[in-house]
Amino acid sequence: MSGVARYHGGFRWEGVHPEPYGPELDRPGFQGIVRQRLFGRELGLAAELRYFELDPNGYTRLERHPHAHAVMVMRGRGRVLIGDRIHEIEPFDLVSIGPDVWHQFQADPSTPLGFLCLVDADRDRPRPPSERELEALRRHPELSRFIRS
Ligand code: MN
Repeated sequence: MSGVARYHGGFRWEGVHPEPYGPELDRPGFQGIVRQRLFGRELGLAAELRYFELDPNGYTRLERHPHAHAVMVMRGRGRVLIGDRIHEIEPFDLVSIGPDVWHQFQADPSTPLGFLCLVDADRDRPRPPSERELEALRRHPELSRFIRS
């Protein structure tokens, strides 16, 4: 388990297999996402480090949950909704998403968006908004234009 996994270029690593994201979710609400688990519980850490890549125009699900996310943008450009604010993001920006804060990442139309995401290895399940919560979020005009679901 100790050792080096070579970087192959193109955001691919030796021994790391891209996985489809979210087949376990009851409601999709996301598009064009590939996940690679770089580090996980096999090392005995209480955290996992994943690399996510969204296709151009791809987006993650709008969700919130008690676990936090620590994110470093690695590739492309996009925007992220955190709480009730939308931020432009580009490589090497650091994105902090605290417990129970609504969030959604979106790639720009012309580039993918790649980012590292650090999470607790043991974590609760993400939760999408109820119809009522979605309605409340959509009352902000800026959020209403942004949110994909
Ligand atoms: Mn999340």
